[in-house]
Amino acid sequence: MQLLPRFELHRPESLAGVLALLAAKPTARVVAGGTDLITNLRHGLAAPSALIELARVPELSGIRAESQGFRLGVGVTLESIADNAELRRAYPALAAAALSVAAPSHRAAATLGGNLCLDTRCVFYNQSEAWRQGNAYCLKYRGDICHVAPTGKRCHAAFSGDVAPALMVYGAEIEIAAPSGLRRIALADLYVEDGAAHLALARTEVLTAVYLPAIDARLRSGYRKARARGAIDFPLAGVAVALRVEGNALSSLAVALTGTNPRPFLLEGTETLLGRPVDDALLTELSKLVQKQVSPMRTTVTASNYRRQVAAVLAARLTRELGAQAGTGIAGK
Ligand SMILES: Cc1cc2nc3c(=O)[nH]c(=O)nc-3n(C[C@H](O)[C@H](O)[C@H](O)COP(=O)(O)OP(=O)(O)OC[C@H]3O[C@@H](n4cnc5c(N)ncnc54)[C@H](O)[C@@H]3O)c2cc1C
Ligand code: SF4
Repeated sequence: MQLLPRFELHRPESLAGVLALLAAKPTARVVAGGTDLITNLRHGLAAPSALIELARVPELSGIRAESQGFRLGVGVTLESIADNAELRRAYPALAAAALSVAAPSHRAAATLGGNLCLDTRCVFYNQSEAWRQGNAYCLKYRGDICHVAPTGKRCHAAFSGDVAPALMVYGAEIEIAAPSGLRRIALADLYVEDGAAHLALARTEVLTAVYLPAIDARLRSGYRKARARGAIDFPLAGVAVALRVEGNALSSLAVALTGTNPRPFLLEGTETLLGRPVDDALLTELSKLVQKQVSPMRTTVTASNYRRQVAAVLAARLTRELGAQAGTGIAGK
């Protein structure tokens, strides 16, 4: 790790102040908990002229129950999400994902917005400046070749935030503040399949809130991740599942993945599994859907094929467990 580069620190007390600073300072970056950005700055991965701290902006705070669900300000910490009894009851996948991020001291500072806007990761990128210089840099920052796929011109660094897939299976939306005003989009639409530019967010825009719809009491949901170190680590693959059962058959199924691609994404084709019990045949088909749609590359120390297999196994196991809780399907591993 190297010393932090020199930068101005701004601490605006309103959203309008944040937007004005971003518009006025072309190389400024926003910082929330700083648990990702400061590490990256100390690795020499960026040198913004100014940091704009979001901690004092009231529009980004608070967890609020609304008539149609919940509004979460993006400035709330992951600790406060994991500790919130109402969220734990209504959105267990979200609480589990928040609790699985890093260590307690990180979660006390790390915010929801920072987790959703986390930079993508790669073994050739998350290194010191000296290491990257010695290896001729790479396409994502300062270089012109991708060491993972040298013949291509695209970065495959993996999005490794835990919380996004958990929000996606509930159909969460996000609010974005731009100089032209506020807009709301599906969280899934924030992400792009490009490891070097994975957010559909202009430099002058910030996330302000996440909106979770009210949940049917019959919905069962959860989050699981595989990681190299059980106590503290990014997901090699992370899977969120939300399902509903009517009679003995699945009436809804949403599966979202992280850690395998440059973006977290909702699995396509789950509607073909509806109307059936959660049995071995269904879980085999689900595993195949996952294996087809994930595209792990050599961006971690763990083999790509392991990450593909483990994503499929996590999805099948979690779906089996949730199906059993909901009163359909078979018990087992
Ligand atoms: C040892 C270690 C282990 C970790 N393990 C995990 C893990 O297991 N899972 C995981 O998901 N993460 C992990 N992290 C990464 C990080 O701690 C978390 O993702 C955290 O939630 C990031 O939030 P933050 O508020 O600290 O973000 P910051 O570092 O403040 O910001 C991260 C990025 O988001 C941008 N940003 C922040 N807020 C906004 C906003 N409102 N609008 C637009 N852009 C914004 C920043 O400009 C920056 O680019 C780990 C980090 C460390 C150091
Ligand atoms: S995937 Fe390629 S371009 Fe992207 S960070 Fe890794 S080595 Fe660099």
